[in-house]
Amino acid sequence: EQDTQPTRTFSKSHKLDDVLYDVRGPVVEEALRMEAEGTDVLKLNIGNPAPFGFKTPDEVVYDMRRQLTDCEGYSPTRGLFSARKAIMQYSQIRGLPNVGMDDIYTGNGVSELINLSMSALLDSGDEVLVPSPDYPLWTACVTLAGGTAVHYTCDEQSEWYPDIDDMRAKITDRTKAIVIINPNNPTGAVYPREILEQIVQVAREHQLIIFSDEIYDRLVMDGLHHTSIASLAPDLFCVTFSGLSKSHMIAGFRIGWMILSGNKRIASDYIEGLNMLSNMRLCSNVPAQSVVQTALGGHQSVNDYIIPGGRIYEQRETIMHALDQIDGISYVKPKAAFYIFPKIDVKKFNIHNDEQFALDLLREQKLLIVHGGGFNWKQPDHFRIVYLPRNSVLNEAAGRLQIFLSHYRQ
Ligand code: PLP
Repeated sequence: EQDTQPTRTFSKSHKLDDVLYDVRGPVVEEALRMEAEGTDVLKLNIGNPAPFGFKTPDEVVYDMRRQLTDCEGYSPTRGLFSARKAIMQYSQIRGLPNVGMDDIYTGNGVSELINLSMSALLDSGDEVLVPSPDYPLWTACVTLAGGTAVHYTCDEQSEWYPDIDDMRAKITDRTKAIVIINPNNPTGAVYPREILEQIVQVAREHQLIIFSDEIYDRLVMDGLHHTSIASLAPDLFCVTFSGLSKSHMIAGFRIGWMILSGNKRIASDYIEGLNMLSNMRLCSNVPAQSVVQTALGGHQSVNDYIIPGGRIYEQRETIMHALDQIDGISYVKPKAAFYIFPKIDVKKFNIHNDEQFALDLLREQKLLIVHGGGFNWKQPDHFRIVYLPRNSVLNEAAGRLQIFLSHYRQ
């Protein structure tokens, strides 16, 4: 009798129907399958510094050990006083206007706060301007929250800066906010003040919130200065995100923050929503909060990596030089973070599906990159390389890519 009874099956929520998060998607699954079979895969796909020998400053780990036994309980929902005090000072140095202690929220990485900030804001049909290419969590969280991510183009011909005309053209009466990622993942672009001022002007004219993801704000090379867009917009409501995952090589500790600034009066109801969702998750990981003060106030070891002679700087030179040798590949020099987003001559290789390209490269050369589509880039002509591995590995990877492209036609 039991056999005739239909078996109940369980499907995922329809909320996930349009959610795309390919940085850990099907190509990565294939790589994991290959590894499980014993194949060595050269992975240039995830921006996680620790496995590549980037060490957390000793004082940070020491500080966590020392404080661990005091971190057994929940903290206040926004975070420990010491962490928020340090973030407050950090925001003052960066010129963020009108920030009080209650405007700072710690999170289990910036990731949690991106999700929270979109969930608290969006109703079905609300639109948010998101860059293309983007760090895909932004698009995914807008979609999951019931909103629509409308992509504005970042222009490769102009150093991958946002195309302000395209941004303007995409605004409708449902647009609530603009997201910028500065410094940018996947392009490595750092936006100059003039570009930021134009974005502020667009937001001002159309009364939009600005969300600025600045997790790479301390990983800027070539002596460039990073400006927080919120510092240029005291009359607007801005939310600025950063954290310690990249600057302190502790992506696994899970600590990030968001800072509300500017004109908070216009967003008081939204802020109530943020507080409600923040309360519902009780608090973020307390041991990781406990190191924020030491991390932000102590030795900024990342500075040693991003100057000539430093590993990230030198590895950028290596990957650029290696890509220069490959016919049909071009790129804009990245100025920050540890990503490069090269262009492939799709006509030359007859490429029309970039995910297939990534899969073919993986299967043939055991090399894992992320295709441009994973970053909501619509043409099949880009891919991202993470240049955290050492020079020898980067040269090996570029060699494999060169061999692959010497015969590849889709
Ligand atoms: N924002 C950007 C632009 C990122 O590249 C990443 C991680 O790669 C994150 C946010 C998430 O960082 P976290 O470790 O703080 O969650």
